Amino acid sequence: MAGARVTVVISQAQGRNPVKRQLEEDIATALIAEPGVDVSLVPHLYDMSQDHTGYLFLRSVPGNLIVLSWLYERATRWTLDRAGVRGQVGTTVLKSADDELDEDADDDNEKESSGSDGIGSLNVPDRRLYCIDLRVSESASVYLNEIRRIVNENSVQVVDLMSWIGGSPKQEQLERYLQPERMLEARRALDSGTANHQDKVSLPEDTGRRWYPVIDYSRCTNCMECIDFCLFGVYGVDQLDRILVEQQDNCKKGCPACSRVCPANAIIFPQHKTPAIAGAEGEVGGVKIDLSQLFGGDTGESAVELAVKERDAELILAGRHAVGMSVGVRQAHREEIDQLIEDLDALDF
Ligand code: SF4
Ligand code: SF4
Repeated sequence: MAGARVTVVISQAQGRNPVKRQLEEDIATALIAEPGVDVSLVPHLYDMSQDHTGYLFLRSVPGNLIVLSWLYERATRWTLDRAGVRGQVGTTVLKSADDELDEDADDDNEKESSGSDGIGSLNVPDRRLYCIDLRVSESASVYLNEIRRIVNENSVQVVDLMSWIGGSPKQEQLERYLQPERMLEARRALDSGTANHQDKVSLPEDTGRRWYPVIDYSRCTNCMECIDFCLFGVYGVDQLDRILVEQQDNCKKGCPACSRVCPANAIIFPQHKTPAIAGAEGEVGGVKIDLSQLFGGDTGESAVELAVKERDAELILAGRHAVGMSVGVRQAHREEIDQLIEDLDALDF
């Protein structure tokens, strides 16, 4: 078995933001010459289909893996999990700003590591997976220092390859991911509008923008509330009767409704503008613990009421009838809302 190499994969930002591109390039260029490290780039994790060569490559990586992306750490981990790229939780010292602000973040991290509250992931190989948010700092040296710390931490590597590699990707499908210099060069040419045929061949297939829920199985209790609530056929169950996102492209772009009704705050929409919905640590619905949610920003609605309204709007857009609270909202939620209103009345503002 080879020594303790660590693979670093940079998931590139959507669009052509030059500041983001420069940061990705600075990190990748420095790592090409770094001992003990293999580096590659893939398109944005959330936008790649499950059979995109970027995921074929990620599934083929042996050993410890560091993934840098423009998403919260939790969103990256569970987006990768959905694509069959898994590992034991590797802890990074680089935390997203919204994660740091959360007073309960450490407790939540412990819960996530142990997976004790949720049904957990399946077939997790004996290697570490580190997920790092590229929005933590604009300085490449911050990421390079953290990668070096992780490489030192993993001087002994345990790899159980065959138990987790998904499929048998053809070498030529992976070739481009093994030549990061060439890929960077081709990306520069594409961004500046000077790409030739060879540049295009060196780059991964294009991805469009997507929108779908990602389940955090360290929190998910398999209660099936989301499958009852969603009226667009997004959710399903696997052969073990575990909830899964089955028809992801049925999800309505921009709508995060089911994340608000999940009692475990286990549903992430990585591209949503609200940090807690996008995967920052902390609550999403907050119905049970956060009275401020009852006043819900500008609208003054509870999380469930807001979710019902968002779902109704999508039903109407799809030419169907609004259903309000009458479908897929459990009695417990309705009672919670009634109780909160009673509590508020008792506060006598
Ligand atoms: S509502 Fe949340 S906890 Fe319940 S099955 Fe869906 S994702 Fe899991
Ligand atoms: S956001 Fe709406 S359409 Fe998408 S999965 Fe949730 S309830 Fe279904």
